[in-house]
Amino acid sequence: SFQALVTSKGDDGKVSSSVETLTDDRLPEGNVTVDVEWAGLNYKDGLCLTGAGGLVRTYPHVAGIDFAGIVRESQDQRYKAGDRVVLTGWRVGEVHWGGYAQRARVNADWLVPLPDGLDTRDAMIVGTAGLTAMLAIDRLENLGVTPESGEVLVTGAAGGVGSIAISLLARLGYQPVALSGRPEHSATLKELGATDIVGREDFLGQPDKVLESARWAGLIDNVGGKILSKALKQVKYGGAAAAIGNAGGIDLETNVLPFILRGVTLSGIDSVMQPYANRVAAWSRIAKTFDLAAYAALVEEVGLAELPDAAAKILAGQVRGRTIVRLR
Ligand code: NAP
Repeated sequence: SFQALVTSKGDDGKVSSSVETLTDDRLPEGNVTVDVEWAGLNYKDGLCLTGAGGLVRTYPHVAGIDFAGIVRESQDQRYKAGDRVVLTGWRVGEVHWGGYAQRARVNADWLVPLPDGLDTRDAMIVGTAGLTAMLAIDRLENLGVTPESGEVLVTGAAGGVGSIAISLLARLGYQPVALSGRPEHSATLKELGATDIVGREDFLGQPDKVLESARWAGLIDNVGGKILSKALKQVKYGGAAAAIGNAGGIDLETNVLPFILRGVTLSGIDSVMQPYANRVAAWSRIAKTFDLAAYAALVEEVGLAELPDAAAKILAGQVRGRTIVRLR
């Protein structure tokens, strides 16, 4: 038997979670069983644990969109007992039971072997957040952004994706500028490598124009809404933007001028359905690039029972860096 955070929907429609002891026969279908050592907390996990956004359709549910652990049993020739694996995305934790349990049963196609240099805890410090940050940097580079092109604006900078993006960009020689609504984290973001901090209110307080002073060679956006709209109008000639998230809303009001006068590209990043080869490449680049020691101060550990509170915090934009979940 194993412990799991089981999320249920009551007759009143309210979604709540509690730690329960389950037997293996409760595990969903799959060809690889994993002893989960660490899971992560992402914005989407906040949605799944609270029932917001309608991502979870079937209850009882085990949430957790990413986890890392050790293969316990495998009916797939690519994996054997004892292998260290990481899983992110594929709608695990949304439609398939996820990482908030000491045991998970999944499809081998969804797993990635842990690269050398990362243990299971490291992998969950990175998690979906770090994988997505890496994919966004890869994309900006494919669109021609280089460290020499100039500053790269990262929005939602104190959150998981944002803070790892800052750290990775700095390590790769870029000048990441952090846009954050929480000035109390400015010093931490500078320590991670941010070359400048832009306050959310200051940024939004500047008068809107159809095209604004060009400053950013690249843009990594975790927020959407008004912030993405305004930032796009400040991207330099030939620059590129990667849209990752919607922590500030799903709307995007824009005009064509940044695109037709400055040749700006707006490119979407999805980590969930990302093909296997891209995942392996991104994890390998993360293992070589990410400075885990420098990031240690931004990591908070919680147990399963503390997750409901942590979920409320991440939805309220109050989590700094990465929260990881201890299963062992
Ligand atoms: P997170 O840790 O909660 O970070 C989000 C950050 O956005 C917050 O820390 C806050 O940063 C800022 N923010 C929150 N509410 C805001 C608001 N109302 N207006 C403006 N800024 C706000 O979440 P995360 O796990 O890093 O994820 C970030 C976003 O990316 C989420 O929308 C998530 O769903 C999305 N995401 C997408 C993918 C993908 O595959 N496309 C993968 C991972 C995540 P400051 O306090 O510094 O301003």
